[in-house]
Amino acid sequence: MAYDPGNIFARILRKEIPARTVYEDDFALAFHDIAPQAPIHVLVIPKGPYVSIADFGATASPEEITGFWRAVSKIAEEQGLTHEGFRLISNSGPNSGQEVPHFHVHLFGGAALGPLLT
Ligand code: 5GP
Repeated sequence: MAYDPGNIFARILRKEIPARTVYEDDFALAFHDIAPQAPIHVLVIPKGPYVSIADFGATASPEEITGFWRAVSKIAEEQGLTHEGFRLISNSGPNSGQEVPHFHVHLFGGAALGPLLT
């Protein structure tokens, strides 16, 4: 699937539409989900044009991959989630229900989260 530069997260990256940003560096941007499903629900996205985690893992540079996952860990720490725990989910492709075709990780925390969804 080709990357669509008009997707909503690409527009957030270009600051064309607002988001409640919690973190930004050279490799990642993180902001609150517009429809939170946990007390803390942050979306973490890479700066590069990757459709999904499958695309990111297969085609991003080692620097981008390392930088992105280091940012995820830093954000979890900054959000105060590392002691009590948190959950990461990344939907990839139609069977997952992925809505926005720019790779993103959902970071959930702030309460006991219950069982994983199937
Ligand atoms: P997906 O189903 O693609 O894994 O998740 C997309 C997520 O993006 C959803 O949780 C949805 O609430 C969130 N979302 C969609 N549009 C916007 C937006 O314009 N701003 C923010 N902050 N989140 C959005």
